[in-house]
Amino acid sequence: MSGRPEILFPLFAELTKLDGIGPKSAQILEAAAIAKPLDILMTLPASGVDRHRRASIRDVVPPTVATVEVTVGEHHPPRTRGRPYRVHVEDAETSFQLVFFHARGDYLQRLLPTGQRRVVSGKVEIFDGIAQIVHPDHVLPVAEAADIPAFEPVYPLHAGITQKAMWKATRSALSLLPELAEWIDPALKTRENWPDWAAAMQAAHSPQSTSDLSPHALARERLAYDELFAHQLTLALARAATRRAKGRASQATGVLSTKVLEALPYKPTGAQSHAIAEIVADLATPLRMNRLLQGDVGSGKTLVALMALLAVVEAGGQGVMMAPTEILARQHLDGLRPLAESAGVTLDILTGRDKGRARAAKLDALAKGEINILVGTHAVFQKDIVFKDLRLAIIDEQHRFGVAQRMQLGAKGQAVDVLVMTATPIPRSLALAQYGDMDVSVLDEKPPGRTPVQTALVSASRMDEVVEKLRHAVAQGRQAYWVCPLVEESEVVDMTAAEERFKRLRAALGEGVVGLVHGQMPPSEKDAAMARFVAGDTKVLVATTVIEVGVNVPNASIMMIEHADRFGLAQLHQLRGRVGRGSAASTCLLLYQAPLSESGRRRLEILRETEDGFRISEEDLAMRGAGDVIGTAQSGIPRFRIADLERQTGQMAVAQTDARKLLNDDPKLETPRGKAARTLLWLMEQDKAIRLISVG
Ligand code: ADP
Ligand code: MG
Repeated sequence: MSGRPEILFPLFAELTKLDGIGPKSAQILEAAAIAKPLDILMTLPASGVDRHRRASIRDVVPPTVATVEVTVGEHHPPRTRGRPYRVHVEDAETSFQLVFFHARGDYLQRLLPTGQRRVVSGKVEIFDGIAQIVHPDHVLPVAEAADIPAFEPVYPLHAGITQKAMWKATRSALSLLPELAEWIDPALKTRENWPDWAAAMQAAHSPQSTSDLSPHALARERLAYDELFAHQLTLALARAATRRAKGRASQATGVLSTKVLEALPYKPTGAQSHAIAEIVADLATPLRMNRLLQGDVGSGKTLVALMALLAVVEAGGQGVMMAPTEILARQHLDGLRPLAESAGVTLDILTGRDKGRARAAKLDALAKGEINILVGTHAVFQKDIVFKDLRLAIIDEQHRFGVAQRMQLGAKGQAVDVLVMTATPIPRSLALAQYGDMDVSVLDEKPPGRTPVQTALVSASRMDEVVEKLRHAVAQGRQAYWVCPLVEESEVVDMTAAEERFKRLRAALGEGVVGLVHGQMPPSEKDAAMARFVAGDTKVLVATTVIEVGVNVPNASIMMIEHADRFGLAQLHQLRGRVGRGSAASTCLLLYQAPLSESGRRRLEILRETEDGFRISEEDLAMRGAGDVIGTAQSGIPRFRIADLERQTGQMAVAQTDARKLLNDDPKLETPRGKAARTLLWLMEQDKAIRLISVG
C-alpha cells in the first residue's frame, strides 16, 4: 500500500486553507491537536442554540437566546467613559435595548442605522428592569437574515477562536468532503439506517434540534461506528499478524495435568474447566496464541495458569509465568511448586534478587531444560535469559503492565504462545477496545464455599472503637489487613502514613502482633514480614497498596481500609478481594474522613451493595469515563473523538465481529469493500494497521 489515497488530500491540507482560519488561529488549534480540515470535521458541536425567528421577545423568559426582527430607534452614546453605548429597538410587540461596551459610534451607526429594519439575535436579559441584549451575536439586514441558522451548532471552544470562526471553518471543511466508497457492511448499514459517511458528516455539523446532538442520532452513531470499526480493524490486523507468525503446536497429553488434578483437594469449577479447554485447544494449533484470561479476584486463575503450563511441559517444552511484584512471584512459587512436584515437574523462581553464581546456575538449568516452569518478576525477560524450548509465557495481573511490555514478551522466543491474566474485571466495551487483538476466556464463576464479605462504612472519628473491635477479633485468632491511605502518588508519603499507623496499632495491640509491609522496604524485610503474616505469627498486617494484587492468605478475614474514599472503585474491590478466601465470615471496613464527597459516598455505597467485580466496573465506567478507568495513555486505546464508550457499548462488539469477519473473507483487503476499509484506516490515521497490511 503506497500512501494516502489522493481523494483524502483536501482533508489533510493546511488548516489555513479554511475560511475563518488565519495563521494565528491555526497555531492555537494545532496546540489543541486540530491540525487539518479533517480534525475540524471530527470536532462535532457540543451543544446548540435555538435561534428560530420569533415575532417578539415579550414572552421569552430571560436569560434566553432570542432572534427577532426590529426597527432601529435612537442611539444613546455613553455620556461618560466606561458606560455602555445603547441602541433603542422595537420589535412587533415591545421595545428593548441593544447594549455595547467599548464600541465605536461610527461602526454602530453603520450596523444599526436609525429607522431601518434589522434581524438581531442574542441573549435577552433584564437589567434595571429593562430588557436588553448585550453584544448581540447576529445583527443582519432582513434580506440576509436567512444566514442565521434556526438551530446553531456550538463548538467546543479554544481560547482565541470564536464560534463564528469555527462555524466558518466547519462550513468550508464540509465543502471539501469527498464521496468515499462504503466500508460498512451493507446489511448492518441498512439495518441501522445509517447515512453515507459524507452525508453523516454534513448532518452532524448541521443539527436541527437538540436531539440531533445525541450520541444516538443516526449521523453521530455512524461516525462513531467508523471510529470503532477502524480501531477494531487495526486490532484484527494485529491479531491476524500474530496468528500468522508461525506458532508451535503443543499437543498436551494429559499425563501431568491428570496427576495434579488428582492431588488437588478440590475440583475445578465449570468456568475453570472451560477456560483450560480453550487454552489447551489453542496451544495445540500451529497458530500463535494471544489470549486474555479475565477473572475476578479469587476466581481461581492460578489453577488455569498451571494447567496451561503443564500442557506445554507435556508437549516437551517450557513455560514461564511473570508476576508484577516479588511478593506475588514468591506466592506463585509456594502455591505451585508442591502441585508441580507431585507430577514430577521442576519449577523455579527468578527475580531481580537473583545474583551472581546462583543466578548463573538457574540460567544454565533453564538453557538445558532442567527447569520446566519458571515463575518470576519481569526479570525473567532479561536479555541474557535463554530457554531450551520456551512455548508459553503467562503474564499475571496484566493491568500493572503496559501494552509495550506485552509486545516485548511476544518477541521473546520465536513462537511463544501468550496468555495474559487480569483480575480487573473491565466492562465489555472496554475489554474489546483494549484487548481486541486477543482472544478472551472469562472466569465468571467463583469456586464454591465462599461466604460473602460483610462491608461497612465507618467514620474515622470512631477510630478508637474500631481498634477496640480489632483487638477483640485478634484475641479470637482472626487476622486482619490494615491498608493505609494513598496520600499522593508517592510511595514515600504512603510509607510515612503506614509507619505511623503501625506504631499506633502496635502500642494498642501489643508487641509482635502487628507487622508492616510497604514498597520502600528492602525486599528481604518485605518477604519476612509477609511470611510472618502468612504463618500467623503476626495477626495484623499494616500495608500500603503493595498487597493490592493477588496476595492470598486464607486465614485473613478482616480488611480495614483507611481513607477508603481516596481509592478508586477497582482498587477497593481488589483490596477487599484479599479477604473472604477462607471459610470464616469476613469483614471489610471502609474507614472514611467525614465529610464524604458525593462521588466518594457513591463509590463506597456501590462497594457495600455488591461483590460482583463486573458490576462494580460498569459503575466505575459510568462514574468516571473510559479514559480514567483504564488509563488511556498506556492502555493503547486511542482517544476516540466521536465514539463514546460509555454510551455506545454495544457497537464495539459489533465492530469487532465485523472487522474480524472482513479480514477473514478478505485478508489482504483487496475487494471493493476491503479497499474502502483501507481508506477508512487512512482517514482515521491508523498508521500501524496500514503497515500491517503492507507487510502481509
Ligand atoms: P485469582 O488468582 O483468580 O484471584 P486464585 O487462583 O489465587 O485466584 O484462587 C483463589 C483461591 O481459590 C485459592 O486459595 C485457590 O486455591 C482456591 N481455588 C481455586 N480454584 C478452586 C476451586 N475450583 N475450588 C475451590 N477452591 C479453589
Ligand atoms: Mg491471582
